[in-house]
Amino acid sequence: MPDKNFTAASLAAQAMGWIDPVTKAVVPPIHMASTYQRDEDNYYRSGRIYARADNPTFDQVEATLTMLERGARALVFSSGMSAASTCFLALSPGDHVVAPKVMYWALRNWLATFATQWGLKVDFIDADCSDAIATAVRPGVTKLVWVETPANPTWSITDLVAAADIAHRAGALLAVDSTVATPVLTRPIEHGADIVMHSATKYLNGHSDIIAGALVGARDDAYWAKLKTIRAQLGTILGQTEAWLLMRGIRTLFPRVSWACRSAQLLAERFAAHPMVEEVLYPGLDSFAGHAIAKKQMSGGFGGMLSVRVKGGERAAIATAARVALWKRATSLGGVESLIEHRASIEGPDTPCPIDLLRLSVGVEDAEDLHADLDQALRRAHNL
Ligand SMILES: *Cc1c(COP(=O)(O)O)cnc(C)c1O
Repeated sequence: MPDKNFTAASLAAQAMGWIDPVTKAVVPPIHMASTYQRDEDNYYRSGRIYARADNPTFDQVEATLTMLERGARALVFSSGMSAASTCFLALSPGDHVVAPKVMYWALRNWLATFATQWGLKVDFIDADCSDAIATAVRPGVTKLVWVETPANPTWSITDLVAAADIAHRAGALLAVDSTVATPVLTRPIEHGADIVMHSATKYLNGHSDIIAGALVGARDDAYWAKLKTIRAQLGTILGQTEAWLLMRGIRTLFPRVSWACRSAQLLAERFAAHPMVEEVLYPGLDSFAGHAIAKKQMSGGFGGMLSVRVKGGERAAIATAARVALWKRATSLGGVESLIEHRASIEGPDTPCPIDLLRLSVGVEDAEDLHADLDQALRRAHNL
């Protein structure tokens, strides 16, 4: 293990400083085995039996995630959705949970359908308001408070210290979808969270070439053991090649996120003053509702995600997205290439997302190129 005095940025760049003890390789191998030999005395002294439970390829990436989030343990999953749903499946039918109205839409749909049919009682609330969380929790009955900050696709901010305090007073856990913030900007466990969830498909991997998820636990307790058991039972483990790629991606997490934050701040400020833009939603703008809380719990920037509400409504928004050349029209976020998306189109008719909203995921291209491309698209969509 490397010197604890090195920063998270240095440790991430070197994947915790791992060196193969035999070959001195600076990059770990991919372990392909699905099964492990039993010792002659009938024990499994290696601690490994079968790869539906875990894989040595996970060790380095889980250790790095634990370090990044200042947690006790980490688990990698086959997707962000399998990581997130495991937090709810570890509860019991009849348990009450609280989740935001504004959150990643596929998880909101899963909670409203599968989780509800399975027996969870789910209340969707305005999580950018601490009073709303306090009103929704039922002491002794609520088992989990789920929040996402900044939250898709309006980037509303939840006060993590307040949410943790409310959850814990009621005897509930606080779980935080920190996909957008990344551990570069916010470490929810430092603010009182019990579980941190990531769609590692996004910033952690950063190259739009794998689907992956992760959980980091503040404690190695009975709830954590349940999460690990469910992953082993359902087999929602990450593939070994994907685990290796994820570790490779995390090595450049800090420079990618820092670059994207700088560009996103610049783009947010410029487009906020653009004649064809109604409003820019970005936690880094002074005018943004959650800015003061974001400043308290985010350090080093306000993220690479922003949304632009285009003047002229849905038609003008879709026309703008149709006229970009550098930005790519695609869903997802957190990759090195910048993406633009008319969000309401993918969320469907019951979405709370404004219909004039374009969601922008800022990558690592030149910020001036990104600005010029979106500027010309806005002007051409408005026939100017
Ligand atoms: C993408 C995403 C998810 C789901 O993750 P997958 O890896 O696509 O399963 C959950 N939360 C947020 C905030 C996301 O952006």
